[in-house]
Amino acid sequence: MAREPGVAGTSRALVLNATFEPLGVVSTRRALLLVLGTKAELVHATARTFHSERMTFPEPSVVRLARYVRVPHDRQVAVNRRTVFARDGHHCQYCGSPAESIDHVMPRSRGGLHAWDNVVAACRRCNTRKEDHLPHEAGLVLRSQPAAPRQRVWLLAMSGGARDEWAPYLGEQSLTA
Ligand SMILES: [Zn+2]
Repeated sequence: MAREPGVAGTSRALVLNATFEPLGVVSTRRALLLVLGTKAELVHATARTFHSERMTFPEPSVVRLARYVRVPHDRQVAVNRRTVFARDGHHCQYCGSPAESIDHVMPRSRGGLHAWDNVVAACRRCNTRKEDHLPHEAGLVLRSQPAAPRQRVWLLAMSGGARDEWAPYLGEQSLTA
């Protein structure tokens, strides 16, 4: 499976549950193995192909598992710069400028937690202005109340860039991010 222009290899595929709920993102090679092993069916393919010695396979973009997989409800997305920036569209949640850092709404020095409902993406200017204050004390207004993202897979996809054909399966959030 050599890599050439138009030859599959390094991109990613969306994995859907048997019920069409998005489950996660895997390499297209892994997705092809799921399809070849009859563990999943091909839903969408890219224009590229995998070549073996004798055969050509379409590179999967979306696959659907043949059997339903139960997903634990308590599965949490890690709170870090990458995931918070993805949730907040890479924009400062106070002024809308490009985000450069993470701000704790209730400052950590005042007992604020490093948790989804207390972190927002912020630009350096707003972060510096806010320091160890609450937003209103620094004259800042949050554009929206931070909350945990609803769909883990949306976050995974957004933090690395989702493909257009994934949008129908990821829900509205993928279109407004
Ligand atoms: Zn700002």
